[in-house]
Amino acid sequence: MTITGLAEPFLRAQLESLGLAVEYVRAEGDTLYRRGDDGRELPVLDLVGGFGATILGHNHPEILALAQELLSARVPVHAQFSLHPYAETVARRLNEILHRDTGDPGPYTAVFANSGAEAVEAAVKHAELDRGLKAAELLARIDEETDRARRAVRDGAVLSAAARRLADGGDFESLAAALTAANRARAEEPPVLLALTGGFHGKLVGSVQLTHNPVVREPFRALAAPCRFVPAEDPAALAAAIAEEHRTALGLTVSDGTVDLAEHRLPRLCALVLEPVQGEGGVRPLTAGYARELQRICAEADCPIVVDEVQSGMGRTGSFLASSAIGLRGDYYVLAKSLGGGLAKAAVMLVHHRRHRPGFELLHSSTFAKDAFSTLIAARTLDLLEADGGARYRQAAERGERILARLEGIRDDFKDVVADVRGRGLMLGLELRDQGDSTSPALRELSRAGVLGYAAAGYLLHAHALRVFPTASATTTLRIEPSVHITDPQIAQAESGLRALCDLLRTQDGDRLLAR
Ligand code: PMP
Repeated sequence: MTITGLAEPFLRAQLESLGLAVEYVRAEGDTLYRRGDDGRELPVLDLVGGFGATILGHNHPEILALAQELLSARVPVHAQFSLHPYAETVARRLNEILHRDTGDPGPYTAVFANSGAEAVEAAVKHAELDRGLKAAELLARIDEETDRARRAVRDGAVLSAAARRLADGGDFESLAAALTAANRARAEEPPVLLALTGGFHGKLVGSVQLTHNPVVREPFRALAAPCRFVPAEDPAALAAAIAEEHRTALGLTVSDGTVDLAEHRLPRLCALVLEPVQGEGGVRPLTAGYARELQRICAEADCPIVVDEVQSGMGRTGSFLASSAIGLRGDYYVLAKSLGGGLAKAAVMLVHHRRHRPGFELLHSSTFAKDAFSTLIAARTLDLLEADGGARYRQAAERGERILARLEGIRDDFKDVVADVRGRGLMLGLELRDQGDSTSPALRELSRAGVLGYAAAGYLLHAHALRVFPTASATTTLRIEPSVHITDPQIAQAESGLRALCDLLRTQDGDRLLAR
C-alpha cells in the first residue's frame, strides 16, 4: 500500500484549490517543464526564479558541468575542522567586490551557512555576542573607576550629593554596592533588535521575529527575543525608537577631591536588520535619502546595520549589492539564494572587522556549511557574474528596464486594475488592486481571503504557461524575478499573459480566472 499526502498535505490542498498543484520535472534557463496529461513535457516561463535564487537561470550549463565534475572527482562534502581553501576563495572574492562597490576596505570575515534565514541568524548572533562583550568591557571599566574612587576616598575625597543619594546616605561601599546592583540590572535587560515594517528575514525561530508579517511571526513570538519594528522611509521614527531604548550605566569620576556619578552609554542595540529592496514585503526599494539618514542615526547610536541581501544581492538589481547603489554600508551583509548558482544550498554572513569577534567561529557552526561542493559552486557563480567587466550586472539592469517599461505600459493601460509597478533591475513587482468589492462573487471571495494573487498565478500558469507568484507578505503584488538571460520573446510572453489577466480583472470575469 502506498500512503500519499504525508509531505505537507495542507499546502498541497491549497495548491490544488488554486490550480498550482503541478509537478515540474525539468528546469533550464528561465523555463520549468511540467508533465502534461499526455505525458509530454510542457514548458512554463518561470518568473519566480526560486524566489530570487536563479540569477543565472536554472541549471546553468557551466554550473551544472562544475557540479558534475565535483561529484565525479569525489570532492569531500564532509571535512569539518580542516582547511577550507574554497570557502577562503569565496570570502576573498566577496571582499574584493564589497571594497570595489562600497569603497570600504573592510575586511569582512565570512561565516558560511546553508540558508538565508540561517545566515541572518548568524549575523544577529554575532551582533549579540559583540554587544554582550562590549557591555562586559564597560562594566569592567566601571569596576576600575570604582577602585580609583575607593582609593581617592581613602585619601580623603568626599561623595557628591548625587553619589550620596545613590548610596542611600551611606558610605562609599554602600555606593559601590548600589552602583553594581543598578548596572547589573540594566545590563540584564534584553537586547533591542530593530527591523523595518514590511521586512522579511526568514522563518526560523530567531529570524521570524524580524519578519514583520504577523501571520508568520506572532504564533512564535514567545520563542525568542522580540523585535521592534519601525516604519521604512521614516528616519524620525527610527531616531525616536533608538532614543527610547537608550540606557546608561553609572560609573564614578573623581575631580577636585569629590567622587561623582558619570553616565556611560550601555550597549543595548543589538542591530538594525533591513533589506535594501524589500522583497517579500511587495518589492519596495529603500531610497538613497533614507539610507543616508539611517546610516547617520545608527552611527551616532553605535547600532550595527545588518544588510540582508539574500534576495536583492548577487547582481539582481543591476549591481552586485542593491545597498551600494543607494550608498548604504553594512556592518554585516547576508547573501544566500543565488550565491548557490541555482544549484547548491549556500549562504554567507559577512561581518566588518571593526565589529568582528574572533571567537564566534567556535560558538557558531553547522555540519553542511562551508563544504567544498557549495563553496566551489559559489565561487564559480561569482566568476560568472564578474566576468567581462561585470557584463551580467549591466544585463540585469538592461533586461530589468525592458521588463519595467512593459509593466509600466500595462499599468498605464489598466489603471483600474493595477495599483503600482515597482522595483529595480530584475527584482520587480506588479501590484493588483484589491477586488474585495468586485461584482464577481469569485473575485470578491478570493480577494477577501487574501489569495487573489495566488489565483492569478493559477490562471497565468494554465492559460499562459507563465509562472508568477505573489510576494509572501504582500499577496496582491506579483513578483517578477527572472534570470539575466530572459529573452525578448519571453518578455513578450509575460506581457501578453499579464495583459490578459488585467483584462479579465477589468471585466470582472472571476469564472475565467478559475477555469482550468
Ligand atoms: N531574507 C530575505 C530578504 C529573503 O527574501 C529570504 C527568503 N525569501 C530570507 C531571508 C530567508 O531565506 P531562506 O528561505 O533561504 O531561509
